[in-house]
Amino acid sequence: MAASWSGEDILYSGKGNAIYMVLPTSGCAWAVSESGGCSMCSYVADSPLEDVPSEELIDIFKDRFSRFDITEKTAVKIFVSGSFLNPVEIPPSVRKEILGILKNEELVEEVVVESRPEYVTENVLKECCDALGDKIFEIGIGLETSNDYTREKR
Ligand code: SF4
Repeated sequence: MAASWSGEDILYSGKGNAIYMVLPTSGCAWAVSESGGCSMCSYVADSPLEDVPSEELIDIFKDRFSRFDITEKTAVKIFVSGSFLNPVEIPPSVRKEILGILKNEELVEEVVVESRPEYVTENVLKECCDALGDKIFEIGIGLETSNDYTREKR
């Protein structure tokens, strides 16, 4: 269920490289709730839909990350087919360890994750920024529509 790849990308500081990583989790909490998730999204079909122990998640991250030689400035983009900042999908201890590893990678300039906005709190942001040091931390919230009816009912 895990996957990773890399390729050229445009970073905030200019042309560089990006490492993409998909980590397996229990699945997007919104998708596995009674709501059934967002109508345009099938990510939950790629999730194992069972708890992945913290140690296993960290080992998967380390294994995937070790496959890349980082020789130029790099962005690391971590996808979990849900919300990286939801503590049920990615426990805070796992989040902290992953960000701590990336903090120590000199050529990693940016870390990009995705999360539903309800998990983006001041406390969580502070924890992430503390763990990541002075690197750029970007959160994609995946806004698919600005129409309130579509956003709330569909
Ligand atoms: S919140 Fe994101 S991952 Fe979850 S169902 Fe919606 S688009 Fe998919």
